[in-house]
Amino acid sequence: MKQVVLASGNAGKLKEFGQCLAPLGIELIPQGQYITQEVIESGLSFVENAILKARYAAQMSGMPALADDSGLEVDALGGAPGIYSARYAGSSLKGPSKDAANSAQLIADLAHTPLAKRTARFQCVLVYMRHAKDPTPLICQASWEGMIMENGQGEHGFGYDPIFQVLEKDRRAAQLTPAEKIAISHRGKALAKLKRALAET
Ligand code: IMP
Repeated sequence: MKQVVLASGNAGKLKEFGQCLAPLGIELIPQGQYITQEVIESGLSFVENAILKARYAAQMSGMPALADDSGLEVDALGGAPGIYSARYAGSSLKGPSKDAANSAQLIADLAHTPLAKRTARFQCVLVYMRHAKDPTPLICQASWEGMIMENGQGEHGFGYDPIFQVLEKDRRAAQLTPAEKIAISHRGKALAKLKRALAET
């Protein structure tokens, strides 16, 4: 197996990505083995932040690295929370309470927006760097269309999943099983593109 560092501390992402890449002979190693402090996401776009994360993980580990940067774009809010999705309600909270606070903030900000104008999409950018100075990293991007609802439903997933009504399923993202979600989500589609790109190289 070829070892690749996953530039994320998220156990859910490690499992999701690990299962998808194992058939390509790739074993994902959590970055926590090499990195104690996460890199500052100072970019202004998903792709910049994903590159920063992948480069830092490759530098610290001396191994190839995979990074994902994702977020939610709401049309009525001019694309917010976008790259600030993880810290929309502030950066001091962690885990499920942070997710709940971010969703509550979004619901409040859309209080006067009618349902028809609540269109939104998740974005995901994946960056694979062969080494820290890789001048041609593999970059794969995908999105997932939906609407932001006024209350949360569903038990699965994380982040904004309970308030994200999936367009093609007429269900909340949090009402999809992990397998149903990865088959159609921004992350699943970006991962499928990355698998094809990796298989070609
Ligand atoms: P990242 O881990 O820095 O890429 O932050 C992404 C943030 O965007 C997460 O903390 C969530 O708030 C949100 N997000 C990204 N993907 C999803 C998803 O699949 N479901 C729900 N929220 C997501």
